[in-house]
Amino acid sequence: MTKKERYAYVIDWFEQHMPVAETELMYDNAYQLLVAVSLSAQCTDKRVNMTTPAIFAAYPDAESLSKATFDDLFPLIRSISYPNNKTKHLIGMAQMLMQDFNGEVPHTVNELVKLPGVGRKTANVITSVIDEQPNMAVDTHVFRVSARVGLTTNAKTPLQAEQQLIANFPKELIHKAHHWLILHGRYICVARRPKCEDCGITAACKFYKTDMRYVVEGLPKKK
Ligand code: SF4
Repeated sequence: MTKKERYAYVIDWFEQHMPVAETELMYDNAYQLLVAVSLSAQCTDKRVNMTTPAIFAAYPDAESLSKATFDDLFPLIRSISYPNNKTKHLIGMAQMLMQDFNGEVPHTVNELVKLPGVGRKTANVITSVIDEQPNMAVDTHVFRVSARVGLTTNAKTPLQAEQQLIANFPKELIHKAHHWLILHGRYICVARRPKCEDCGITAACKFYKTDMRYVVEGLPKKK
C-alpha cells in the first residue's frame, strides 16, 4: 500500500465511522477553550472538565482572571498536574490578553504562542478548534498513532510529524484528522498494548502488518 493509498483508506474509514470528531474538553467560548487546553497539558481531559466549571464561574473572562492572585486561583487548580506552573501561566496569560489583545483570544498561532504557557501544540489546538484552521496539534497520541499506522515516516519530533501530516491530509480535513488521531490513540491504539482487535484500520496499519498481527493471531513472528 502506498502512502497515498494509506491516507485514503484511513480518511475513508474515519469519515464513515467518526464523521463528527471534536475535542472532549468542555468550553463555551475561545477564552474558556484557551484555559481548558492550557490546563490539559500532561493531564486528562476528564480531569480538566471536572475542574474548569469552578474556574469559569469564578473567572468568567480574561479581565477577571487577570486580577486573580496566585492564592485565589491555586486551590481551583490543585488537583491538576503541575498546578503551580499552570496557576502562574493562567494569570500571566490573562494579563497579557488584557494588555496586548483587548481581552480577546487571538486567532493566529504566532500571536497565541506569545502567551505564557502556550506552546505550538496548544496554539494549533485553539486555532483548529475555534475556526477550523488547517493546523495539526501533535500530542503523544497523534505522534504514536501516526507512526504506527505509517502516516508519518521516521518523524523524530512532534514538529516533523506535524509537517508530514499537514503535507498529506487534505487541507479541509486537517482540523478533523487531529481529533480522529487523538481519539483513536486514546481509546483504541493505546500506548501499551493497542487494541487491534477493535481497530477498523488494521488493513492500512504498518505496525499491525509487521508486529501486531502476530500477537493478535497468536502466530510466531517471521524472522
Ligand atoms: S491496527 Fe493496532 S497498531 Fe494499528 S492503528 Fe489499529 S490499534 Fe493501532
